Amino acid sequence: MIEIQFLGTSSGIPSLTRNFPSISIKDLRSGDINLFDVGEGTQRQILRYGLGLGKIRRIFISHLHIDHFLGLYGLVETYKVYGIELPEIYLPDRIPYIASEFPFKFIRARTLVDSENYRIDAFRVKHMKNSYGFVFESKGIRKFIPERIKELNDRDFINLKSKGYTIKGDNIVKIDEITYIQAGIRILYTGDSMFYPDLVNIIEHADVVIHDSTFLDEDKEAKDKKHSTALQAREMARLLGAKLLILTHISNKYESWRDEDITSKVGNSDIPIVVARDGMKITLKRMDSGNIEYNIKI
Ligand SMILES: [Zn+2]
Ligand SMILES: [Zn+2]
Repeated sequence: MIEIQFLGTSSGIPSLTRNFPSISIKDLRSGDINLFDVGEGTQRQILRYGLGLGKIRRIFISHLHIDHFLGLYGLVETYKVYGIELPEIYLPDRIPYIASEFPFKFIRARTLVDSENYRIDAFRVKHMKNSYGFVFESKGIRKFIPERIKELNDRDFINLKSKGYTIKGDNIVKIDEITYIQAGIRILYTGDSMFYPDLVNIIEHADVVIHDSTFLDEDKEAKDKKHSTALQAREMARLLGAKLLILTHISNKYESWRDEDITSKVGNSDIPIVVARDGMKITLKRMDSGNIEYNIKI
């Protein structure tokens, strides 16, 4: 299971209800939080939504526009003041730092993290120089096939776990014969990007797409400013075969718009669309049927 929480959902200028961009993706198996972008004021959002500084394993900054990284300075200082070990920090480039140094790694278009439970890959998007998006993918889980394990007892399960097989009478029962691997969940976060349909050749598929949706239907403005519209986000989600589309990085000129007003701009969509709001938590679970169940709390 994975839990996505939006700490900030505005674009370059915040509004009364939207703080600067920051998204937490939590792997519920390990408890690890990976934080994507740290706009100004993200520290307070971390406090408000009770994330816990010690739970944040890594921080990724998608690109060096100020709305995506200004909060990093203060956050790093807070870790130092409390004496908590800093998360691993991944940056697309060096950032000017006024107080003190901190260790970081450069983001490149490749696998950045390959842990026991999940992987994080980076890829280039179309925005400013060195702009990246990310794919977070939880790894599959081995599941027993109910009709093939009826004859097995506790001893057999211990054998299967420790040795990968068990002996039943004259037969050797191998774990691969009675289990299958249930796919993980693949989440794409575009960071800021203009419409980039060729992305499908790079990442092929995503179950959940979190897309730049700075503009709702001003195609020209979106193109000029290298951002996307909600309609383009839906097209990207369709190309990637997504089961859920989440719109974020919303311009403050839509502050008075209700979510229904925003999604109505996308027209008919067979993919469910969620408009991200600060504090919104979305839990994702792969069901035995193969479908993904999602639960939204605001
Ligand atoms: Zn931005
Ligand atoms: Zn930007």
